[in-house]
Amino acid sequence: MGKALFSPFFISHFQYRLSSTGKRRTCVVGFAPVETSEQALIRLNIIPRDQHCISRKNISDGALKVMSRLRSGGYQAYLVGGAVRDLLLDGHPKDFDIATDATPEDVTELFRNSRIIGRRFRIVHVRFGREIIEVTTFRGHHDSGGNGTGQHETGGNHSRQSASGLLLRDNVYGTLAEDAARRDLTVNALYYDSGTFEVFDHVHGLQDLEKRSVCIIGDPEQRYTEDPVRMLRVVRFAAKLGFDVEPQTAAAIPRCAHLLGEIPAARLFDEFLKLFLAGYAASTLDKLLEYDLLRYLFPATYACIRQDDSALTLVQAAMGNTDERIAQQKPVTPAFILAALLWPVVKAHSTRLEDSGDAPMLAMSNASQEAIQDAVNHISIPRRFSQPMREIWEFQLRLQRRTGRKAAELIEHRRFRAAYDFLLLREQAGEETDELGTWWTEVQELPAEERLATMAASPGQRKRPRRTRTRRPNPTP
Ligand code: ATP
Ligand code: MG
Repeated sequence: MGKALFSPFFISHFQYRLSSTGKRRTCVVGFAPVETSEQALIRLNIIPRDQHCISRKNISDGALKVMSRLRSGGYQAYLVGGAVRDLLLDGHPKDFDIATDATPEDVTELFRNSRIIGRRFRIVHVRFGREIIEVTTFRGHHDSGGNGTGQHETGGNHSRQSASGLLLRDNVYGTLAEDAARRDLTVNALYYDSGTFEVFDHVHGLQDLEKRSVCIIGDPEQRYTEDPVRMLRVVRFAAKLGFDVEPQTAAAIPRCAHLLGEIPAARLFDEFLKLFLAGYAASTLDKLLEYDLLRYLFPATYACIRQDDSALTLVQAAMGNTDERIAQQKPVTPAFILAALLWPVVKAHSTRLEDSGDAPMLAMSNASQEAIQDAVNHISIPRRFSQPMREIWEFQLRLQRRTGRKAAELIEHRRFRAAYDFLLLREQAGEETDELGTWWTEVQELPAEERLATMAASPGQRKRPRRTRTRRPNPTP
């Protein structure tokens, strides 16, 4: 993604754009002074079509239709957020979000194929076949007496904040400028008008795109207190875009990181999917460790990583493999990556239980249960993922059996592929498995009859499965 910024096409556009400010319209927008004093007066830059590289060709028909119909209905409508950011970086947005001054109810009146979702943050989903366009009403300031446009959410109860400042509900509507200031990062607060082809920049987003800087809008501590997930977003976009984190945006993270403990486990799971299943999990993990945030998502894994280098190697290998699979457009499942993230924990529990006398399979089963129960106190793991995780782990013991009919049948099992890939991952991370992975690789390649002959063993020829040893933890420095 970062590379795209330096494509010759983009550089020429960007340099031209930045060096020819004479052609840009600059307006000063009055603003409720809840942001830093520097941002109390927001300078709106309007960049005309010939000074940016966004082409309507790269915007989905659905998004163009939504904007056009909203405008025909007398409303404002802009493409916003990641789509504008990625289009300016010459990338391909994965989805298209639209901001408007129409209320959610207004939007659903215009589109039969739409529905309002969310409570904390009400938005409208407009569906075109498999594509969903997200339409959000401009957000306003919570202390500006409701909103800047005179619009009120019907039914009241539109904004709520916890004693610690966490935003529990954010449905106060406002103006375009207020909406820009309520977004998370400057590079995520650019608006594109598909009617006039202009880009609207209230918060120096273009400048930060050019500087390759992830910068929170407003006072970092206040913005993280309102919504601690923004810290995870800072890290995610720094990893995804290969940008640096602006010093003040970074400096407030250690002061506010503990607030992530207040975030509901279900929301953290949604965020986990964005962090680790979007094609840049390895660099995201590095950043989460750099900013010491992994402990709020997976505290037990974090503790294992601190004690044992091999735990980190395994998790890093899982992230790298996931990124490779996504790059090759192969399917990935949260179950596999979660199985890897919790494997060091499961292994530690099962070793402890075996040492206290449990049989290996019972120890593994109880260890899996314990690891999952503990993890879901922090991050939800839906059953449709926790069940396959347990199967992948338990399969690691079953794969130790190299001979006999039962072993031969394992290859036909629906969980074999994932379990075998997991075994290879453990080996890749340096875990001692007595070359089990190589054995299963070779045996799979044999024609079925030969495989059965190889595996149909007389008891005397059976190779005894050896228990894999856990490396002794390194002493904590
Ligand atoms: P991606 O490419 O991952 O979809 P995105 O920037 O579109 O990136 P989304 O999670 O889809 O990210 O959010 C859309 C937009 O909504 C963001 O660009 C940002 O402007 C705004 N936004 C999302 N989450 C927050 C938040 N927690 N606080 C403030 N603004 C937010
Ligand atoms: Mg998006």
